[in-house]
Amino acid sequence: MTDFKTYLSRHESFEICRRAANRTIERLAKNRGRAAQGILERLKSCRKGSRCFSGVCPVCALRYRLRLLPQAEHILGENDPWVQLWWTPPSALVAKGLLVDFDLGKLLDHQKQVLREAIPGTVAIGGIDVSLGIRDRIAALWRISSCVLISGPITQDNFDRITDIYKPGSSFCQSFGINPVLHKPHMLSYDFKHRIFARSYDHDMPSNKRPKFNVLHPSFADEADLFQERWPLWDRLLLHNVSAGKVPHRPMLRRLI
Ligand SMILES: [Zn+2]
Repeated sequence: MTDFKTYLSRHESFEICRRAANRTIERLAKNRGRAAQGILERLKSCRKGSRCFSGVCPVCALRYRLRLLPQAEHILGENDPWVQLWWTPPSALVAKGLLVDFDLGKLLDHQKQVLREAIPGTVAIGGIDVSLGIRDRIAALWRISSCVLISGPITQDNFDRITDIYKPGSSFCQSFGINPVLHKPHMLSYDFKHRIFARSYDHDMPSNKRPKFNVLHPSFADEADLFQERWPLWDRLLLHNVSAGKVPHRPMLRRLI
């Protein structure tokens, strides 16, 4: 079993997250909007024994991730092969200013329904990954991608059904990928990513090129914060034949099949 605390400590220790929270507090202090001020107050109140559970808070997100990741790894089976499936529907490309009001609940319901059709007897867990797509140094669109890891080998039947349902360019799917997962802790951590980055990432780019992750410009960061406050990591899970228990910020993942 992966020691996620050690694994994440390089980029995501509690100290690093506390510093990130302080930078967010400084930035939000300049935003006079009521919603931003509400998040600011929550972040300032976050302390040991009295956590804020704001969807924006990096410390609360790390605590949640440290609970979630080992359970997810256990459910997927540490010794079984995993397959990562990601896709972006055309409706999940969102212009600046429209992210906060995006109906993620509706999107999640739809994605779960599609997984039921595509891989009915399989376990899949993952979440919603939001990033700001940058092309030619110009911020283009918010991209709301669905990303799941599937446990066990994919049968040819399943593979054909999945690729048929997620045909890129169809009315349902703007882009799609299916890949065996080699670096498991890395991919698991990525599928339950908390932060929203800008990335000069183009799904048409050659597979030997890596996407570049960049910190969001403040005008985008405030919008991302308002979105995350509405949709915290624990409400962005995409689970198929798995339940997460009843307490939103204390996951108790359980296989349902
Ligand atoms: Zn907090």
